[in-house]
Amino acid sequence: MTAAGTTTALSPARRSGRPSAFRLFARNQLAAFGAALLGLIVVVVILTPALPLLDPAATDPANRLLRPLAENHLLGTDHLGRDILSRLLWGTGVSLLVGLSATSVAALFGSAIGILAGYFGGRADTVLMRGIDMLMAFPYILLALAIVAALGPGLLNALFAIAIVNIPFFARNIRGVTLGLARREFIEAARLSGKSDLSILLTEVLPNVLPVIVITVSTTVGWMILETAGLSFLGLGAQPPDADLGSMLGEGRKLLITAPHVSVIPGVMIFLVVMSINLLGDGIRDLLDPRLKSGALARPAPMTEVVRQETDYPGASTEGAVAQGDSVLAVTDLQTQFRMGDDVYRAVNGVSFDIRPQECLGLVGESGSGKSVTALSLLGLVATPPGRIVGGQVLMQGKDLLGLDAAGLRALRGDRAAYIFQDPLTTLHPLFTIGDQIAEAIRSHRPVSYKDAWARAVRLLDAVRIPNAAGRASAYPHELSGGMRQRVSIAMALANDPALLIADEPTTALDVTVQAQVLKLLDQLRGDSGASLLFITHDFGVVSEVCHRVAVMYAGRIVEIGPTEQVLDAPAHPYTERLIACVPRLGEPGRRMEAIPGLPPAVNALPPGCAFAARCPHAEAACREGEIALDALDVAHAVRCIKPRGRLA
Ligand code: ADP
Ligand code: MG
Repeated sequence: MTAAGTTTALSPARRSGRPSAFRLFARNQLAAFGAALLGLIVVVVILTPALPLLDPAATDPANRLLRPLAENHLLGTDHLGRDILSRLLWGTGVSLLVGLSATSVAALFGSAIGILAGYFGGRADTVLMRGIDMLMAFPYILLALAIVAALGPGLLNALFAIAIVNIPFFARNIRGVTLGLARREFIEAARLSGKSDLSILLTEVLPNVLPVIVITVSTTVGWMILETAGLSFLGLGAQPPDADLGSMLGEGRKLLITAPHVSVIPGVMIFLVVMSINLLGDGIRDLLDPRLKSGALARPAPMTEVVRQETDYPGASTEGAVAQGDSVLAVTDLQTQFRMGDDVYRAVNGVSFDIRPQECLGLVGESGSGKSVTALSLLGLVATPPGRIVGGQVLMQGKDLLGLDAAGLRALRGDRAAYIFQDPLTTLHPLFTIGDQIAEAIRSHRPVSYKDAWARAVRLLDAVRIPNAAGRASAYPHELSGGMRQRVSIAMALANDPALLIADEPTTALDVTVQAQVLKLLDQLRGDSGASLLFITHDFGVVSEVCHRVAVMYAGRIVEIGPTEQVLDAPAHPYTERLIACVPRLGEPGRRMEAIPGLPPAVNALPPGCAFAARCPHAEAACREGEIALDALDVAHAVRCIKPRGRLA
């Protein structure tokens, strides 16, 4: 692996940290099998003219219907004494060629019609799609038969017939995709930049529908080959003495009892060709879906994989309770990584904090600093693959959450610990009423009747200040404003009286007045229900509103933690200082607001020493070497810096 490793390290796929398309594909064994089988068939077909085969059309009545393994005839002969092996290889070539050509023709015309109809809409759409509808109004095998009847039997005509009847399939599919794209902002932006329709179609629309076209092609080729074989079987395709797989099957049909090999051999070949193409097509579809790329071809598991040295965390089991002090949640040295290809992204790199009863702890940092991954790790919600927890301990009520199995985590999620996401439109189900969704959250953890759950849902909606809660419970998410939807998410999170609420940027999607209302509400509910709150945000202004203590994250580590007022008034870490300086203040237009120069380091290549050193105006040589510890400044305030601000002159 060493030599290969160094050469492939230079390929672009590897540099981006994702496994290369080829490796992903090879990991999907069925698709790789399909590709290998199809490759073998294609190679043999290409080599057919060069192989020492008998003439596929030469008849030899003296040697009729020889069984396979006969002398000179490996697969025997048919009813006219023709060599089956030779006819099979030539016929497979014809079938593949006709099937692929028909698919290409159908894909070309169908996609063009779909793109034009979807992009231009209006009258063009009406005319084109009604034409397609007319084609679809006939049972398509009848239509194919009618077309061949009109054009006359023959392979080329069969090809056209199959291509024509498949055009609607491509046109409908591609029109749907284009329709969605044509309304998107990047198309609008291209139009505003003065691009012509043709150029937009070629450079903006086509690249986006191309994966769909390729997927549709790869999944229909097999089907088209079957259809061509069907027409030949009925005597409408290949004409004697030419053969394709369908006509061979048709000729063998009359001899099925006396000489089964004459029809079974082409039948098996059709099966192998179509199966290998379909397996390959499925593999290509998986490959072209970028969401599957970073997670290999596996779907995420229900909980994050935990791989840690149990001995490092004595008592870290689901059994015996562990002493935990008076905190609701105690996190020690949490480490979560993403593995992509050979790169390891240390998104959370040794995070420790605790939250006391009824306390609100803020987790602040730039985008990408690891706040969300920290929060998701607590409840095992990081997708595996590519994520996994490689170390640490998360104690809640004396139990180590990282030691729980899937069932234990499920019982905890939404019950003792609840999560509020950033975007309430994507987390609420669009097809259920909000009352139903809250009632479901209650009933999945408590054995209460639907009626009682609904009544509690209404009380919860009332508690989060939804006006006319009893009536609004029957509303669907799209009927509510953004602020109301976020209140619904909060009501859902509160459904089972959680001890811990995790809110991941719950107000980022809201405007300032609604944000203020939601913050006030969260603060009140925390007081009323006695829940503790882990509040994630990138906004120091918000922190000062609701948080008792604040932890500042940078490149996967906490660099400063302390009481909110203390950190805001006298930030000790240069990063905290710069972050606070970035917050605009009302009524101080002249205040200097400096962006922090440079960018956060990539978490797959962290520098030694302080991760902020490269951007820090006070950095010196000692900052760039060795491990820098989180040192206590006083009982409640700690900082990961060798020259804390305001302490050393
Ligand atoms: P934020 O602080 O903005 O919430 P995140 O915790 O979401 O940041 O991300 C921390 C790091 O983890 C980032 O570098 C991000 O690219 C990486 N990351 C997050 N989720 C995934 C994922 N599913 N696959 C790969 N990398 C991820
Ligand atoms: Mg985030």
